[in-house]
Order: sequence, then structure tokens, then C-alpha cells
Amino acid sequence: MSFIQLENITKVFAGGEKPAVDHLQLNINKGEIITLLGPSGCGKTTTLRMIAGFENPTNGTIQIGDNEVFSDAHSLPPEKRGIGMVFQDYALFPHMTIIKNVMFGLNKWGAREKRKRAKEVLELVGLEDYGSRYPTQLSGGQQQRVALARALAPKPNVVLMDEPFSNLDAGLREKMRFDVTNILRKTNTTAIIVTHDQKDAFAVSDRVVVMKDGLIQQIAAPKEMYRCPKNCFVAQFVGKTNLLTGTMDTDLRNIHTHIGKVTLPNEWQERLDTVKLSIRPEGCSLSDEGAYCGQVERVTYSGEYQELHVRLHNEPELSEEPMLIYAPVEKDVEIGTIVSFDIKPELVALVE
Ligand code: ATP
Repeated sequence: MSFIQLENITKVFAGGEKPAVDHLQLNINKGEIITLLGPSGCGKTTTLRMIAGFENPTNGTIQIGDNEVFSDAHSLPPEKRGIGMVFQDYALFPHMTIIKNVMFGLNKWGAREKRKRAKEVLELVGLEDYGSRYPTQLSGGQQQRVALARALAPKPNVVLMDEPFSNLDAGLREKMRFDVTNILRKTNTTAIIVTHDQKDAFAVSDRVVVMKDGLIQQIAAPKEMYRCPKNCFVAQFVGKTNLLTGTMDTDLRNIHTHIGKVTLPNEWQERLDTVKLSIRPEGCSLSDEGAYCGQVERVTYSGEYQELHVRLHNEPELSEEPMLIYAPVEKDVEIGTIVSFDIKPELVALVE
């Protein structure tokens, strides 16, 4: 049985026209790191708050470990749910030293155990020498590690993190994604992270839950979600893509589109008529004798690759979007260049 179970969780706020969270169904395993990902207002914070006990669902049940923490019949208060919280702004107490901040959540522990445990978790996050400092004397990344140490100190069932990386600049953000997952893995801690940033979600999670308008759109491991997005929204939310309409061949594998025939990675299970395809730009590789050929309309240099907008020769009119493809940086391409490319089936997905 899963360690955390959210069964049919719905939340309708007073005066709200639509549910903020709509029949959400999610099972999480012990030690799993899950990210709730979606645009502003999709219901991810409300979901986190309901798990924490700061907000009651309108319907549904929540089970954490052996405890049913919410049902129609009862709601366990936040402090009894065995939850560690890491807030977006870390919420450290500025007038307390780091060690006192960490000991704060251990008020039921004896004085000696409290200090021992605080030292242990500070060592875990690599800040054993910083116990006597104050939060303002630490960098953003260090403050975040203190917040995580404080959340882990009481040995919670689950750590909930609300936009944990959003206050960090790009370089530090990358390091903290790595550090935080390392610490969570070392302690086999189950974690639920809320973010609107796809890169954060992919870098830290075992599985990502994409939400929109209170509804789960897809639950999948990052690689699977990128390669096989379930619908157009997911395809576009987790990266750049080309969305094309086409008709399925009787072989259930080839799709006829305005750029020509595009092949799916596998035979589809049933015959569909009109379908929508997502083709990742990385799936289009320049090749001298490629199956597709067109003229470059726009080049954007990113440093790691060049984004090319290519207008295919066989397009009947300009109503279709040009294809977005990535070219290696060493390739000399400019507006007007004629390029040909192939499409890797592995990065083609049927999304509708
Ligand atoms: P963000 O990334 O902007 O924090 P989110 O995905 O976390 O967005 P939520 O904060 O969960 O979204 O909000 C989901 C919906 O519920 C929104 O339409 C929001 O306006 C509404 N909502 C959230 N809290 C309340 C509240 N206390 N009262 C009424 N409506 C609320």
C-alpha cells in the first residue's frame, strides 16, 4: 500500500465558481520525491495546504503512513500529522541562532536530545559549524539548508516544500536542487514539492504531477513526461514543442501531416482518424539528406544550441507555424539557409 494516499480530494472555496482542486487522486510511496507542477492558480498550494492540515478539503480522504489525517469524520491538526514544512521564504526566526531555529520544532524532546538531534541534522545539511550564527549571517542557500534541517529534525513522515528554489539565483538554484535531493534521499524522506518551474520539477522528482485548473493532467517520471506527454497542455508546459495535426495511417504508426509523414515510436493501440502530434525540437536533427526540407526563417542563439524556425517547402500556405528545431552551435546557419532534417520517432508523441 502507498505511504501517502489522497483519495478524491476536492476543495471548493466559499464564493469560488470552480473547485480549486477537483477530485485529486494521488498515491505516494515511502521515500518518493513528488513535485506538483503547474501554472499560477492551478491548485498546487491548496493541495499542499490540505496535506499539511492548514486547509480542510470539501471532500475526500487523506492518509499519511498509518494515520487517516482527514476524512468526512475528522481532521487531524497540522502538528499531529508528522509533517515538516519548508516555506518559500524559509521562515527562519531572525532573533534566534541557527541551532535554536533547528531545535524549535523539538519542544517535546528533552534538552540534551534536542541539542544532539539539532547537531545531527545540521551536520546532515553540512552546516555543523554554523549553529551559533544568526540567519542574516548566512547565504540564501545556507538558509534554505537550515530550513530543511529544521523540517527534518523531528523525523517527520513527510516534508512539504513550497517553491523551495524560487528565491535563489540560477547557479545556486542548480546546486540546491542537487543538495536538497541528496539530503532527502540520504534520509529516505518522502517529500512533496510545489513549483511552477519545470526545470526544478524535472531535476528533483521521482514523479511529477502536472496540474491545470485544479485537475491532474498527468503523473509520470520526468523522462516519460517529456517524451510522452499526455495532452497538448502538458507537452507545452514541460518544454518547447511542435504541435501538428494529422491523420493516422492504417498501419497505426505513421501520421500524415502538412510536413509529410511522421512516424510514432510505437504502433498506436487503436485506429484514430484526426490526431495531434507533439514533436520535440531536439527530435529534429539536421542531416544532409533528411526526409524534411525547408528554409530557415529565424535563428536564436542560446549558447548551448541554436533554435531554428524552419518553413517547410511542401507547406501549401503560410498558415501553419514554422517547425522549431535545435541545431548544434557549431553549425553555420542563417536566415534563408535551406536545411534538411530527420525526425526521431522517440521524441514524437500522440497527444490527442
Ligand atoms: P500559485 O503558483 O500562484 O501559488 P497555485 O497553483 O498554488 O498558484 P492555489 O493557490 O492553490 O494555486 O489556488 C488555486 C485556486 O484557488 C485559485 O483560483 C485561487 O484564487 C483560489 N484560492 C486559493 N486560496 C483561496 C482562498 N483562501 N479563498 C478563495 N480562493 C482561494
